[in-house]
Amino acid sequence: MSSFQGKSIIITGAAMGLGLAAAQELAALGANLLLVDYNEQSLTQAQEQLTAQFPSARIETAVADVSDEAAVRNYVEAAVNAFGRIDGLYNNAGIEGKQASIVDYDIAVFKKVIDINLMGVYYGLRYVLPVMQRQGYGRIVNVASVGGIRGVLNQMPYVASKHAVSGMTKNAALEYARHGIITNAIAPGAILTPMVAEAFKQVNPADPKQAETEYAQRNPTKRLGLPEEVAKVVAFLLSEDAAYINGQTIAIDGGESNMYGNS
Ligand code: NAD
Repeated sequence: MSSFQGKSIIITGAAMGLGLAAAQELAALGANLLLVDYNEQSLTQAQEQLTAQFPSARIETAVADVSDEAAVRNYVEAAVNAFGRIDGLYNNAGIEGKQASIVDYDIAVFKKVIDINLMGVYYGLRYVLPVMQRQGYGRIVNVASVGGIRGVLNQMPYVASKHAVSGMTKNAALEYARHGIITNAIAPGAILTPMVAEAFKQVNPADPKQAETEYAQRNPTKRLGLPEEVAKVVAFLLSEDAAYINGQTIAIDGGESNMYGNS
């Protein structure tokens, strides 16, 4: 893969899970990073960990809630001030919400999921695209989900928001490729992160490990995915090499989304 030396990448939701794993992969490949998260304590820990692991990388942070438009404008400005340019945006921050049937779903939680997962990704595009257009170069990876290409029981707002991410990805791809900006989305299946651990607690509060084991059995690979497996795909899509894949939503799920009926 082409090098990330001298390239600067923004990662949202970078304090843990998929964001942190991508930060490790990209720092190892030589990128400078702006880590964005609303969990200040975990963000500081992530910065300390990455700086210790990769002393030659520049690892900056910005505390921001991606559902707050002004905060997004600020993190984009912070990236330009720190690095002079933005080569990549990993638009990753998101939440699952609660699991409930359509009629029982708490409307305030529904709106929060849309604000973070849909509007947060949109604000990122809105403020990063003009910077990339001026440069004539950019790579964007938005995080959808298998819930962005399939329905998921009891998670209607999550599914709605992630289908929207896939749709926004297609539009950004169509509108900005002429400016050298390539936009794709990923659709992870169940990857072992704090978010998924929390989901298994909701499915089986008495024995979340059992819920995890049962879930893994449904996957063709008979296991869950690892954050570092997702990070490698993300790094490729953020690299110069990913020049002619545009507007795609790429499943990273062990093949599970191809399945019909029982395994
Ligand atoms: P996680 O909960 O483990 O980590 C998410 C990070 O994002 C946290 O550090 C959190 O503080 C941050 N964050 C959440 N909302 C934010 C906001 N409004 N502003 C700023 N930071 C915010 O989750 P994860 O599993 O790493 O998920 C990352 C992304 O991947 C999400 O968009 C999620 O929907 C998606 N995804 C994850 C899986 C999976 O299996 N883990 C599967 C499909 C999609």
